[in-house]
Amino acid sequence: DEGRVFNFAAGPATLPASVLKQAQAELYNWRGSGMSVMEMSHRGKEFLSVIQNAEASLRSLLNIPDDYAVLFLQGGATTQFSSVPLNLCKAGDAADYIVTGSWSDKAFKEGQKYCNAKVIWSGKSAKYTSLPQAGESSLTPGARFLHICANETIHGVEFKDYPTHLGDTLLVADMSSNFCSKPVDVSKFALIYAGAQKNVGPSGVTIVIVRKDLLGNAQPITPVMLDYKIQADNNSLYNTPPCYSIYICDLVFSDLLEKGGLEAAERRNIEKAKLLYDAIDSSNGFFKCPVKGEVRSLMNVPFTMETAELEASFLKEAAEQGMVQLKGHRSVGGIRASIYNAMPRAGIEKLVALMKSFQARHS
Ligand code: PMP
Repeated sequence: DEGRVFNFAAGPATLPASVLKQAQAELYNWRGSGMSVMEMSHRGKEFLSVIQNAEASLRSLLNIPDDYAVLFLQGGATTQFSSVPLNLCKAGDAADYIVTGSWSDKAFKEGQKYCNAKVIWSGKSAKYTSLPQAGESSLTPGARFLHICANETIHGVEFKDYPTHLGDTLLVADMSSNFCSKPVDVSKFALIYAGAQKNVGPSGVTIVIVRKDLLGNAQPITPVMLDYKIQADNNSLYNTPPCYSIYICDLVFSDLLEKGGLEAAERRNIEKAKLLYDAIDSSNGFFKCPVKGEVRSLMNVPFTMETAELEASFLKEAAEQGMVQLKGHRSVGGIRASIYNAMPRAGIEKLVALMKSFQARHS
């Protein structure tokens, strides 16, 4: 294991060992270019081959139709909270938000600045442990888009099916924390965005997949960097992009393709998540997951124990055994295991073994 830990962080998160090794081997002299990717001109043929290959691999992984643009942007997923309404709405347009946790709440609050944003469903009263059931929410007439967060990283709820019957309302999804964890029918969405730093790379790059016919209508106040049309016309090279982050994404995409694409990734993720949820559910209440069965995330698994002292002692033992970053988000407490694509099954097996021995010693 060469001193590596099992890193259960929510993001930046663990990356595939093979990708890190390849990056290490190529760091000093990238493929005979005599320099690292960090030192290259973003307009040179070497880097162009990197970003073009990254886009081609992502298109193939997600089966992205030709009438969608793929953009590699900066500012994190947080910047998309404003870019989305700036590009898709006129200032007074209605736009609907389903609020299923902290991230969709933040998207809504930022969206309010640039459109007539409305929460049409909120999981807040149930402490963000559920998703809307069919018929529980209805669109505002004329709403330009409906925004959802496909996977709430802090609360651990994940959409398994997406809203349908939207008429002319555009479906927009923040997929930051489940991007490339499973196949997605891109054609159901007007726009998908995702920060890279959970499943597909380092922080610094945010991927936007947007239907091309929606480009070119940005509000006049839209900063040039946030205008999708300008970014698309310039192949994400309007200014200096986060070259090294894009390069690592390219390696991760290739790695995912080699490992059988997103169907295979989903199979692995289902198996891994099942190991952990089964351990929680078979603990006779020693470990508790607040999220209801059907909407549990395959990526972020929150759970609690009877007391904060027990949790602290569990986290300490885990760290001693090389399992780190298991503390729940500061806003909710408890434990959270983020088990993205690159978390090996062995990491979860080790966590489950500790859970069992810890319970035996404390009950
Ligand atoms: N959306 C989701 C679902 C997230 O998990 C995060 C980050 N944890 C963000 C948005 C914000 O991303 P960033 O830090 O890249 O702005």
